[in-house]
Amino acid sequence: MSSEILPTKISETPETITDEVISCVECKRGYKIGNLEFNLLKKMNIPVPHSCPQCRSKSHFSRLNPIRLWKRNCAKCNKEINTAFAPERTEIVYCEKCYQLEVY
Ligand SMILES: [Zn+2]
Ligand SMILES: [Zn+2]
Repeated sequence: MSSEILPTKISETPETITDEVISCVECKRGYKIGNLEFNLLKKMNIPVPHSCPQCRSKSHFSRLNPIRLWKRNCAKCNKEINTAFAPERTEIVYCEKCYQLEVY
């Protein structure tokens, strides 16, 4: 069955969902919800996920790893700024104001 027709509430999801193979919204692979998982979702009142465990762990992983920002100083006015460029990288970083001046 397609995960798009899954009920959005766990309370409306029949227990037989554990017998169904659900197709992942992201990769279209089939996955199953185990009895234990279903009970846990029910207890925590979380709807049945619409993506397979692999896709779920992928999005979980990306949430846990936001772009790291580094504190560096503007190459022009020395103001402290946050940048995605690590300190060991050689890119010259400017604060927003100096950057604008530099570009326009
Ligand atoms: Zn998937
Ligand atoms: Zn500056």
